Amino acid sequence: MVDISQLIFDKIESELEDYSVSVRIQNSSRLARKFERGYKCKLKFDCDECYRNWNSAQGQVTIYYYLDKSTEELEFNAETYRQQCSKCLSWCQPELYINELNRISEQFAHSVINILFGIKKKSNAKPTESKMTNPHQKDKCEACILGKCSVQNEKDNLEELFGNLNLGSQNRNYIDSESESNSDYSDEYY
Ligand SMILES: [Zn+2]
Ligand SMILES: [Zn+2]
Repeated sequence: MVDISQLIFDKIESELEDYSVSVRIQNSSRLARKFERGYKCKLKFDCDECYRNWNSAQGQVTIYYYLDKSTEELEFNAETYRQQCSKCLSWCQPELYINELNRISEQFAHSVINILFGIKKKSNAKPTESKMTNPHQKDKCEACILGKCSVQNEKDNLEELFGNLNLGSQNRNYIDSESESNSDYSDEYY
């Protein structure tokens, strides 16, 4: 697991600035059982041990978050996951593409705006094109091992917290770029 909260903080904050939502990075232990959103993400890997490099279209980013509706405060943290080198079997940290980080930050910020204010913002950013057709190697994907790969659902008790706040449209918002994700979802988080 690789913490990328700091890498997306500025973009999320600037997206939410106009709405006066304050943003804070929170440590994961406090957020581990709050809400989460999963995003597919293109990642690049460079193995330090054997210098093999590869791209993965099946990278994953998970954003854990908590929204205080009364104070309009967002706490979040974000992580991505390592993959195992198929040549030397070392676990490698991903490099992130800036356009992918921006896309995910924007999508997430738009979801927050929708939850808080019921405003649906269109996103222009498209996922990075990928022609890779190799099957996903689940045993070499840390997200798979941790049960985070393709997670696109969030904890379903939003309604409990926020009442009937456009939850239907919120769901539609984040399905479009994640069409290859399945709805595998487990209530058990570590
Ligand atoms: Zn290697
Ligand atoms: Zn995976």
